[in-house]
Amino acid sequence: MSLLELDDVSVTYRIAAGEVPAVRGVSLTLDSGAALGVAGESGSGKSTLAMALLRLLPGDARVDGRILLGGEDIAAMKWGRLRAVRWAEASIVFQGAQHGLNPVRRIGDQIAEPLLVHGLAKPEGARKRVTELLEQVGLPAWRARSYPHELSGGQRQRVMIAMALACSPRLIIADEPTTALDVMVQAQVLTLIKELVAEHGISLIMISHDLSVLADVCDQLAVMYAGRVVEHGPSAQVFHDPRHPYAKALAAAFPTVGDPASRMAPKGLGGDPPDPMQLPTGCAFHPRCPVALPECASTDVELWPAGPGRVAACVHVRAKEDAS
Ligand code: ADP
Ligand code: MG
Repeated sequence: MSLLELDDVSVTYRIAAGEVPAVRGVSLTLDSGAALGVAGESGSGKSTLAMALLRLLPGDARVDGRILLGGEDIAAMKWGRLRAVRWAEASIVFQGAQHGLNPVRRIGDQIAEPLLVHGLAKPEGARKRVTELLEQVGLPAWRARSYPHELSGGQRQRVMIAMALACSPRLIIADEPTTALDVMVQAQVLTLIKELVAEHGISLIMISHDLSVLADVCDQLAVMYAGRVVEHGPSAQVFHDPRHPYAKALAAAFPTVGDPASRMAPKGLGGDPPDPMQLPTGCAFHPRCPVALPECASTDVELWPAGPGRVAACVHVRAKEDAS
């Protein structure tokens, strides 16, 4: 059985100016122990989707569709169950979360907190577990007594990962976990995440604008544009042989992991991603697409088979499959 199942999930923010369709009809599954990468430029709906998975969205967000975690409908969970799930079954490492550490509390106490709050350990057991967790993320045991300002950015991100691991979750959602770090440190933290999920059989959803980072860590890749998944498949294939013109642009923009020159907006791709409140007609990517046809301005293509285990939402992919 899949650990996580998303069935036609949409998220709409209701603001004074109207409705913001941030995520549109996303269906994905994640098997136990698998790692899924979610790529896309800023504004494509990645964080909104991540927050929807654990019902962390603000009250003005409406979620349609169905999200099953271990077969259990997230929307139907009572508050107490949801709280337990957020630590013990799935935890999130946010972008820049390292700045969210409490500056006046020691690292060890902050890592121990979820264990104590959820009654998973007594104080003595929690201390031992903190030492073990620090070791797992490559920090010496004495760091438990440090305050956040005594650590580097990379070390703080390691602490965030230790906190995410504390209650032995089955799933970790990492939202741009290394984007705020410099390149060398970024590579070290990625290696750490990769090793930890493999060693402990944890499932991973990793979010990044950098396709090369995701291809390095994940088995499967989903590329999002304007709230939709436009391509999905095995990560090596999506990265080295992308089918959707947007996935092609992303793959070309981030050729190697952590390349400092390509960390900004995708090169060679003109314009900006659309405002969700003013989505283009037809395929949302058509105004920026180098291979758009006249019909792309009026017809939005569904995800279409693009080879074994692969799908892509592009008229060219459909034409090719039709011909074969
Ligand atoms: P990403 O993580 O891919 O950068 P987000 O999920 O943060 O994308 O945002 C997707 C879209 O939803 C953006 O257009 C953003 O402006 C909008 N958005 C995000 N949060 C809110 C909110 N709380 N209220 C209204 N719109 C929002
Ligand atoms: Mg984001």
